[in-house]
Amino acid sequence: MKLDLLAIAAHPDDVELTCGGTLLKAAEQGYKTGILDLTAGEMGTRGTPETRLKESAKAGRILRVAHREALDLPDGSLQNPLENRLKIATVLRRLRPRVVILPYWQGRHPDHYNSGTLGYEACFLSGLAKVETGEPPFRPFKIIYASLYADVRPSFVVDITSFIEERFRSLLAYRSQYADQPSGGGLFVPHDEIRERTFSLARHYGLLGGVRYAEPFVQKEVGLVDDLTLLPVSSI
Ligand SMILES: [Zn+2]
Repeated sequence: MKLDLLAIAAHPDDVELTCGGTLLKAAEQGYKTGILDLTAGEMGTRGTPETRLKESAKAGRILRVAHREALDLPDGSLQNPLENRLKIATVLRRLRPRVVILPYWQGRHPDHYNSGTLGYEACFLSGLAKVETGEPPFRPFKIIYASLYADVRPSFVVDITSFIEERFRSLLAYRSQYADQPSGGGLFVPHDEIRERTFSLARHYGLLGGVRYAEPFVQKEVGLVDDLTLLPVSSI
């Protein structure tokens, strides 16, 4: 399998929250997309890993991804030993994505920022010829960071206006997490408010790009420009 775009995140539903609209847009553009969840979300207050696996498969279908899989890294204590980097590198070599989306490298939840660093180092390891995984070495062309969880200024935003409703439906596929229920009531946002929260965040980033709804990304590298008249700026 050769993917154009692979989103890697710590927990099932992270991708739906941070870059699901971008994956939908890429699928619409004819690109082959995929999701790698690093954990099964087994430490979540709500739902069992089995339930979350079923829900994530459904959400993946809504996001029109060509491939979705989950690793068995420990939810709640996601660390960066060589063993974990190798597990991700093995997947990277099999899926060979041109672009990888990782979680931003700082944030509130350690699993989120650790998976940013872990994913980056796995991409590097995957390119080393002497690392044996049974597949030829491979390194993605580009890594970008989904920064919606982090309150940082994005390098660019992706217009997801046409896909915001579908993205929201993919999130609601996680009924164990987002349907109103007694357990975790103090921790979880009531169902009615989820829509407002996700839409207003997307609206905020949309305003930065001069569109209605958008998702934010950070890239570490400086962009190289040949033609100033073609810079992708929507408004000043
Ligand atoms: Zn998460």
